[in-house]
Amino acid sequence: MPETFLARRFPTADLPSVRLGTGPTPVRRLDALDLPVETWLKDEGTYGDRLWGGNKVRKLEWIVAEAHRRRRDTLFTVGGIGTHWGLAAALHGREHGLRTVLGLVHQPVDDHVRDQTRRIDASGAHVHRYPSVRRLKLAAPYLLARYSRRGRLPYYLPAGGSSPVGTLGYVETALEIADQVRTGELPEPATVVTAVGSGGTTAGLLLGLRLAGLRSRVLGVVVNDALPLDAVSISALARSTAELLRSRGADVPTTFGPSDLDARSDWLGATYGAPTPEGEAARVAALEREGLELEPVYTAKALAAVSDRSAGLEGPVLLLQTHGPRD
Ligand SMILES: *Cc1c(COP(=O)(O)O)cnc(C)c1O
Repeated sequence: MPETFLARRFPTADLPSVRLGTGPTPVRRLDALDLPVETWLKDEGTYGDRLWGGNKVRKLEWIVAEAHRRRRDTLFTVGGIGTHWGLAAALHGREHGLRTVLGLVHQPVDDHVRDQTRRIDASGAHVHRYPSVRRLKLAAPYLLARYSRRGRLPYYLPAGGSSPVGTLGYVETALEIADQVRTGELPEPATVVTAVGSGGTTAGLLLGLRLAGLRSRVLGVVVNDALPLDAVSISALARSTAELLRSRGADVPTTFGPSDLDARSDWLGATYGAPTPEGEAARVAALEREGLELEPVYTAKALAAVSDRSAGLEGPVLLLQTHGPRD
């Protein structure tokens, strides 16, 4: 496989990954939306071959390799009943010899979640659904025992795949962005905007942009109120990821802290998965004027933030389109 930017940067480090998609993902300027600042789009939805695309595939490139390295044949992870992450893990894991067990909890049901449920049921994952996070936590020891094989526990991954290993996917993507700036395909963004569901995407960007020497500031548009997601927790994940890199022989500095990013819940609405009028307006405008398909849970709310004149974002803005359905 072609080398990753991380492997090229740290040739002696031990940083295994498997290739699940093709980069660089395309960037283009958004002209037709009448946004308050110059805005570019990086279409992460195109990342990921056939099965499922989007930001979770970037994380899985490192997680699947880590599962193999730990000699595990089963992934165990958690999420809402419409989880993009769980679906991506099930589909891409299966291609690489991994079985996926999902512990899922209720979230508001709409057409999008119904589609996801159908896809998850068809994915080959072993699915266990619970009415609440508390019930899932009570069941977790049973699930771990039930799906152990030959004395090996499943490889547990937190919601959204936002472990330090998964976060490497967006350190890599930040280096890809820096390369697109270097070649002149993209102006250096003053602000990089992405939706925050579990924090790994934002944390990886924070670490990777610093590593690449870009001055861009990250704005995480928090869309999930079920996890403690703020600048402190996200920069802590970025630090853990930097520690992981150092433990693998990549000498990365940790010259960032919570003040280097913004994590704002202003566009979250009532709760995770609940549509907002601003999000819906952004979603419809993106489809009609840019032919851009966003979904209500994450990407519509991220565009709502960029569309908000009172947000005071510094341009140029780079907005990540993180959603990648394949059917
Ligand atoms: C999971 C997800 C996100 C959020 O990414 P995190 O790394 O979990 O914060 C954003 N957009 C889409 C479409 C997602 O599925």
